[in-house]
Amino acid sequence: MAPRQVIIIGGGIAGLCAAIHCERMSIDWILLEASKRLGGRVGTRVIDGCRIDHGFAVLLTAYPELRGMIDLKQLDLRSFQSGALVQRAGKFTRLANPLRHPLQAVASALTGAMSVADACRILPIALRAAFAPSITDPDVSHGYSARDLLQQRKVSDQLVDGFFRPFFGGVFLDGSLGADAAAFEFRLAMFARGVAALPVAGMGEIARQLIEQIPNSRVRTATTVREVIRTSEDASPTRWRVATTAGETHEASAIIVALDADGAQSLLPSLPSRSWCSTAAITWRVDRAKLPPSLCEAISLIDGDGTGPVNHLCAPTSVAGEYAPQGTSLISGNVIDPIALARRDEDLECDARSQMSNWFGNEATRHWKLVCIDRIAHALPRQHPNDLEARPQMDQGGGLFLAGDHVTDGSINGAMRSGRVAAAAVSALLG
Ligand SMILES: Cc1cc2nc3c(=O)[nH]c(=O)nc-3n(C[C@H](O)[C@H](O)[C@H](O)COP(=O)(O)OP(=O)(O)OC[C@H]3O[C@@H](n4cnc5c(N)ncnc54)[C@H](O)[C@@H]3O)c2cc1C
Repeated sequence: MAPRQVIIIGGGIAGLCAAIHCERMSIDWILLEASKRLGGRVGTRVIDGCRIDHGFAVLLTAYPELRGMIDLKQLDLRSFQSGALVQRAGKFTRLANPLRHPLQAVASALTGAMSVADACRILPIALRAAFAPSITDPDVSHGYSARDLLQQRKVSDQLVDGFFRPFFGGVFLDGSLGADAAAFEFRLAMFARGVAALPVAGMGEIARQLIEQIPNSRVRTATTVREVIRTSEDASPTRWRVATTAGETHEASAIIVALDADGAQSLLPSLPSRSWCSTAAITWRVDRAKLPPSLCEAISLIDGDGTGPVNHLCAPTSVAGEYAPQGTSLISGNVIDPIALARRDEDLECDARSQMSNWFGNEATRHWKLVCIDRIAHALPRQHPNDLEARPQMDQGGGLFLAGDHVTDGSINGAMRSGRVAAAAVSALLG
């Protein structure tokens, strides 16, 4: 193969964004992706006419990296209501975002869903999320956790455990609230400054829009890289060789390793290993007429009791009806507790169903039919303060660069940013 300026390894969101930026800067690039499909952890498949995303995920429209990369209008986004319905002690109570729905938030305080003292304590946090400019830098870390931050602000255990733990458990796929306070504040800012939404055709549309921006001829799918070798220590134009499991080799002046943390470490063993947050998404279907009323709203339902196994639940079809054939509703129940995740599929679904019967009644859930259970062991890199501290440098020296959500922030925005930054560094190196 003729030497390239840059080889991008991995065709997830980070690799695709690196490719788009290389293309825009007229850098000669090639992308090698192990799977037959591009998009990595963002994708949508169709089962019996139902759109099933790769785990329950949402797009936060305030992500700064979307600008100039994703046409939000074309995605035809359908928004979630902000806040959540919290299941606690046998009933649902609504917790509204005070900045987006001030009247509903006042109602939450008046109905006892949140004490007036808590409302006063979280208001400064919410105002900072909405307006502080520094909060939108996802690369910073505070060195203390979200739970520490809420404790410092004297937010009650009731609100922390009944709302923040399950809600942000769903966001970080980590029920400990141990994520770094900076990562927590970044997400609060995104929720405050935009909406959480689903593209009508599924989350996979985000990857599809990125794929459409790069020429197919530069992309090799079903191509697994097994080795990255530095062939020359000097500044010679071809100093990297990449070998694939099929026995091909490719040469280039620079490499962008745009893999998940484990994939990157298997190619570059000196990189630190990273802990993962795992999830299982249980999808049921039911006649739309038989959907319980609280699931008819475009809102997340969260487990404020912490009894599980389902931490957060929603009906994607109540957000975007196009997710299933007319007259059918999809229900997505999401599990993050490691003990529950260790159970076999049949047992997990049985436990989840009995929890749902407690929430909605036996009669309502009797008609729910299981569509699939998606287990994703490596869903998000854990984002505790020590994890963020140990993030590897993007520039590994000599023309080797890292991209991927483990380098910045475990999100679509983080992956996009890492691809952009790596491509800019390649451009600076190649001049
Ligand atoms: C269940 C779930 C829910 C999520 N929810 C949200 C959400 O609501 N909002 C949000 O912003 N983010 C969410 N995320 C996170 C987001 O999807 C990821 O942060 C992002 O997609 C990571 O992209 P990436 O390119 O860094 O990595 P990946 O998507 O992992 O891409 C890496 C690519 O490298 C390929 N690869 C691996 N090894 C090799 C090799 N040796 N050679 C060639 N190719 C290789 C893989 O096949 C893959 O395509 C969620 C993720 C999951 C799984």
